[in-house]
Amino acid sequence: MSNSSWACPFCALHCDDLVAPKLNNEKVLNANKCFKASEGLSRFNFTSKENKLGYLYGQKEIIQNLITETSKLLSSSQSPFFGGLGLDILGSRSVIKLAKECNATIDHLHGDSISAVLRSFQAKGTIFTTLSEIKSRADLIIFLKSEPNKRLPRFAELVNLSSKNSWVIEAKSASDDSYCDFSVLEKVRLLLYLLKNKSSTSDIDCNHELVNLVRNSSYCTFVWDPQEFGELSEYIANALMAIVKEINQKKRAGILTLGSDNGGLSFQNTLSWVTAKSIRSKFSTKSLYYQPELFSLKRCLELKTIDSILWFSSFCDNLPDENVSNYPFVAVGPESMGKKYSKFFKENKNSIFIPIATPGVNNNGYIMRCDGAVIIPLKKLVNDNIHTVENLISKLIDNM
Ligand code: SF4
Repeated sequence: MSNSSWACPFCALHCDDLVAPKLNNEKVLNANKCFKASEGLSRFNFTSKENKLGYLYGQKEIIQNLITETSKLLSSSQSPFFGGLGLDILGSRSVIKLAKECNATIDHLHGDSISAVLRSFQAKGTIFTTLSEIKSRADLIIFLKSEPNKRLPRFAELVNLSSKNSWVIEAKSASDDSYCDFSVLEKVRLLLYLLKNKSSTSDIDCNHELVNLVRNSSYCTFVWDPQEFGELSEYIANALMAIVKEINQKKRAGILTLGSDNGGLSFQNTLSWVTAKSIRSKFSTKSLYYQPELFSLKRCLELKTIDSILWFSSFCDNLPDENVSNYPFVAVGPESMGKKYSKFFKENKNSIFIPIATPGVNNNGYIMRCDGAVIIPLKKLVNDNIHTVENLISKLIDNM
């Protein structure tokens, strides 16, 4: 454990202005005042110096046997699905290599919102901005639905929000994944209409005030999280793009799309660098097929087009929402995943759990920040006896 600086792996801001937390009483205590970092660190416990154990078909098992069984499973699987994919850049590279070896279909945990926004970027392009540019140049920040306090606790501090004008285009809370609040899209399109037509109407007071704020700003930024809007994200991204194009004719405006939780941006960009394709693709011996409407986990389960599921998650310890109990299922995640889902792993005789290290806690790594402008090095806080995704995958490939 060092007293040096540390970059935090627990949200997409990846703050790198922090002092490395101290190890005390076998727990890493967060020296920094962020509830999310504290909560993330509290999931780790380094008391055990013993060899790490996972689960193999309901029983606790040593890692070597888990690797052997997972390699056997992958060798016999005709159409494996790789999901979760909450990985840093090095982990992403390794998983992509394994996916190529076994012709896997790949999708990220946040594939719905990543794909919807990607469709808009492909069709309309984007004018993005960065955290440092927002901090130093923006004088107006417009949030869709809410400020990202919960998801990115230090956002306001990092962009110096208190020194700027801000506005929230309100939306109802989504109670489930299928919920779409169309009123947000209407409000964004109305803003576009009013800006384009240089008109204001007294019967739409709210937008009237917002239009005046935009007209009086010199650098306006839109900050939004596609995960809040599901399938609507594509249309919202299109409308935001049209607005910033309109504003940029005379002044400056940009968009910050928060799409990089759980390594979303790192995996998507690594895949693009290596294959020029996107998530929701399927490897085959000849090529990589990109079909976003077919290659989500939900759709693959509905169509029964896969015969095994591997779930990779370096940062968070959640399993998929979908019911995977009828398929051979391998979860690769932090040790806390094994504890959190011990009932599932004990009762589900199709399942394997392999504990792995988390970059920034017990492994080094590299991760892309939420604005896509910077790759942040993640330094480990402790040395413990646990596999990284990279060496786990190298052993899986050797055994196949
Ligand atoms: S805001 Fe995010 S990256 Fe920064 S300390 Fe908190 S959890 Fe970590």
